[in-house]
Amino acid sequence: MPTDIKCLSRGELETQFKNWNEPVYRVTQLLEWLYSRRVTSWDAMTNLPKGLREKLADSFSLQTPELVRKQGAHDASQKFLWRLRDHALIESVLIPANPALYGDASDRHTLCISTQVGCAYGCKFCASGLDGWKRHLTPDEIVEQVLSVERLSPQSTVHSLESKDRTNARLRTVDSRLVDNIVVMGMGEPLANYDNLLKALRILNAPWGGGIGARKITISTSGLAPQIRRLATEPEQFRLAISLHGATDEVRNKIMPVNRKYPLKELVAACEDYQGQKGRMLTFEYILIAGVNDSAEQARPLAALAKRLFAKVNLIPYNQVEGLPWERPEEKVCKTFLAILQKQKVPATLRREKGGDIDAACGQLRLKTERELASN
Ligand code: SF4
Repeated sequence: MPTDIKCLSRGELETQFKNWNEPVYRVTQLLEWLYSRRVTSWDAMTNLPKGLREKLADSFSLQTPELVRKQGAHDASQKFLWRLRDHALIESVLIPANPALYGDASDRHTLCISTQVGCAYGCKFCASGLDGWKRHLTPDEIVEQVLSVERLSPQSTVHSLESKDRTNARLRTVDSRLVDNIVVMGMGEPLANYDNLLKALRILNAPWGGGIGARKITISTSGLAPQIRRLATEPEQFRLAISLHGATDEVRNKIMPVNRKYPLKELVAACEDYQGQKGRMLTFEYILIAGVNDSAEQARPLAALAKRLFAKVNLIPYNQVEGLPWERPEEKVCKTFLAILQKQKVPATLRREKGGDIDAACGQLRLKTERELASN
């Protein structure tokens, strides 16, 4: 299978077009078709000469994932299950206007995207790791989650261009983006697929690509310390979230095997390095699990850690996963935990679960569908 065209940066396309003796403005036209109009076939690119379209089709693929399932929750969170070219399944979740969990208060739509098929990190509470790791997503597969959701949405503004020319009459242009905020928090450990992730995010960030500001893109990691340090050296101002879920090595070792490789001391040092380079506020994701990490004994070290790293804390009551023994704490326990953080003047929110009724914990819908398919 040739490389997908959406794996290439503008610079790489310009080099390719130069080798083909094609003028550079053709690259601009191609990029418009790909990222603004979001077309899914070479034939739709009607202002590119036929010969160039044939060269492109011979050299690159132009893939889009197939929508297998779409579920919408009462609060309008929507989950998309995609089938990729090798039939692997991945998920994305569209979350409507939110109270600035990651970006600014004006955020209209946040899309949570996946970066791997399955996950090798085996966090004990997570559905994504239950069937192990299959493969990394390629840059185009990461980018396409945004484009495909926007293609499906009636909220993207679509205009038909008026033209007497019958060929051009088929042109459609999309001039507003639906997704204006991205969290890389779906299936997989993003920083384990570092190169493909960065390539995809640069395309989504570029003015000629997705046009989504770097500060509106949050990368979440379970704690890969060396990659956090590497991310600190990149020029983009991406936001960083740490899936912490425990404020002591004892708790993290119990539920997150990654902590045995990169214990808290190492993770905290890498975060300090990141902040030293970027000067940016971190976010801690903290799933509250009954009897595991929801006690005052955990809230206090969490508050200390958050203060040390100037981190904001997102508390998320656990979303039950079929086949796993963990439970969500009672609401009053969650509120007490929040109050301890707030008393310590730590910026913290307790997330009202968006999408609990759509198998929203990462990997749940994929797992359910794969098991259903296997039993048919
Ligand atoms: S929580 Fe994230 S890192 Fe852990 S198993 Fe799930 S997808 Fe992987």
